[in-house]
Amino acid sequence: MIRNCSSGGLVAYADSRSDDSVEKPQLPPRKKVVVLGTGWGGTTFLRNLDSRLYDVQVISPRNYFAFTPLLPSVTSGTVEPRSIVEPIRRVLAKKGGEIKFWEAECFKIDPANKKIHCRSSIGTNLDGNGEFLVDYDYLVVAVGARVNTFNTPGVVENCHFLKVILHYEFMTWFSKIIITNFCFIFIVSTLQGVLVCSYCPYTITGSRGCSKIRRSVMDCFERASLPYLNEEERKKNLHFVVVGGGPTGVEFAASLHDFVTEDLSKLYPSVQHLVKISLIEAADHILTMFDKRITNFAEDKFGRDGIDVKTGYKVVKVSKDAITMQNPAVGDISVPYGMAVWSTGIGTRPFIVEFMKQIGQGNRRVLATDEWLRVRECDGVYAVGDCATINQRKVMEDISEIFRVADKDKSGTLTVKEIQDILEDIFVRYPQVQLYLKSKQMNGIADLLRTAKGDAEKESMELNIEEFKKALSLVDSQVKFLPATAQVASQQGQYLARCFNKMKDAEENPEGPIRIRGEGRHRFLPFRYRHLGQFAPLGGEQTAAQLPGDWISIGHSSQWLWYSVYAT
Ligand code: FAD
Ligand code: MG
Ligand code: MG
Ligand code: MG
Ligand code: MG
Repeated sequence: MIRNCSSGGLVAYADSRSDDSVEKPQLPPRKKVVVLGTGWGGTTFLRNLDSRLYDVQVISPRNYFAFTPLLPSVTSGTVEPRSIVEPIRRVLAKKGGEIKFWEAECFKIDPANKKIHCRSSIGTNLDGNGEFLVDYDYLVVAVGARVNTFNTPGVVENCHFLKVILHYEFMTWFSKIIITNFCFIFIVSTLQGVLVCSYCPYTITGSRGCSKIRRSVMDCFERASLPYLNEEERKKNLHFVVVGGGPTGVEFAASLHDFVTEDLSKLYPSVQHLVKISLIEAADHILTMFDKRITNFAEDKFGRDGIDVKTGYKVVKVSKDAITMQNPAVGDISVPYGMAVWSTGIGTRPFIVEFMKQIGQGNRRVLATDEWLRVRECDGVYAVGDCATINQRKVMEDISEIFRVADKDKSGTLTVKEIQDILEDIFVRYPQVQLYLKSKQMNGIADLLRTAKGDAEKESMELNIEEFKKALSLVDSQVKFLPATAQVASQQGQYLARCFNKMKDAEENPEGPIRIRGEGRHRFLPFRYRHLGQFAPLGGEQTAAQLPGDWISIGHSSQWLWYSVYAT
């Protein structure tokens, strides 16, 4: 039998006024909000939620929040594990102790009955299986993603992963002190006038603790130092392979290089010259999501550092002693290695895949939400962060409606002014239009009109419906999926909490901005991502920064930018 663990009932507002003499009005029972996950999305949601309004329960197999941007530095030994985690109970305690937390994982969502099935691995119940049920009115799914091995044989058995390396034993009271130094600070980007928000690692150095990967690096050095090995075997043990040239793999390779050259070379002088770090990437370049200049700089720098960057190689098999990879020109090659780290992207968790099948999303790869982060066709379920993706509505689906609303004077054509007047609303509902107008081949609204009219008719600047359609016909090609980053997850968590704090309004006005639909402006705008730039630490005090507005900064100065942004 599965125990039902719903809590709450008639609970008055948490901060119920101290004035007991006044008869309190009978409050309706608070709705139950269940949050799955305590990562970037879930924790940011909880931090921003007005928990007096709901009966909140949090479920996660990890009782801490991990500051993932510093994980690569932990694994290579430059940052202490305990300095990048914050106990979730501490976060919840700041909310007045109102929120309940269960250390367990959800293994099934039952949207028809609004229940979730959970299992705890740290203690069993009377039935001996640790399983229980939780009811919800609103479910916030923030379970992140799993590492993706693309079913490559031998990866699970032989590779390390950067994703889950921390264990709660690392948590100490001190983590709080250090975490408070991850202060979020804001600097104004002078070029854009936008806010760039970042965080600061206070303790870059510290005593060397241990994590699984760090231990494994040390083991390789110790093995290579054993008296009975020949040179080949020493070399094999000191060959560190990083699979995946995305930001995480690159940063790990860079910090591993720093760790090895700066720290371990002093401890193991006799084998130092045998160390080799390889970075393997299936695409033609590393850091493909960054600007070309950054990609080139990183590849050059790694070249100078002696990190062997192998692009165009796809790993097809990992055995205990060798990694086999494929290159169209070279064919299959097998290289011996001492330690391998796998960092090639993410996949959907199995119980989310099951859930998607139940709600008719079985043909998709990632759980889809609308722009308000509501899971489609699933009442009361929301999803944020890496486990979901926003299905952006297309302009072309609504084009006639947009035209009708824009044409205020009902003339049957749109003047430049009419278009300008509605543009802001269009940007909010369809961000792809703004991206399109800002894209290289476009020069604002005039070009839009020219696309519709052709050069000959520059004079008459009114568009009929067909011309309007033509003007916007390419716009939907600019729809972009948001990247799987902490920035996206935390902005979504924050946005959703704000919506929950005003849920009553939201339920009365579920769609928006309705001005486009002719019913006045909506209070609840869709989620809109603000890209605040990205950093790629490349080791040796070099950092590449790509800020909004195509602003690139590479080298020591960006290292200082990174420090000034991240340190106060
Ligand atoms: P997560 O933060 O992964 O949180 C998922 C939560 O769900 C966890 O608490 C987990 O325990 C819990 N959970 C899992 N399964 C279940 C279940 N069945 N039931 C209940 N709970 C469950 N992004 C950046 O923007 N900048 C960076 O520099 C950066 N560096 C990174 C470095 C590394 C090594 C890694 C791994 C990621 C990095 N990222 C970075 C990406 C960033 O960490 C993720 O995009 C972000 O964590 C996504 O947030 P999330 O809330 O969706 O998922
Ligand atoms: Mg989360
Ligand atoms: Mg996290
Ligand atoms: Mg996402
Ligand atoms: Mg008109």
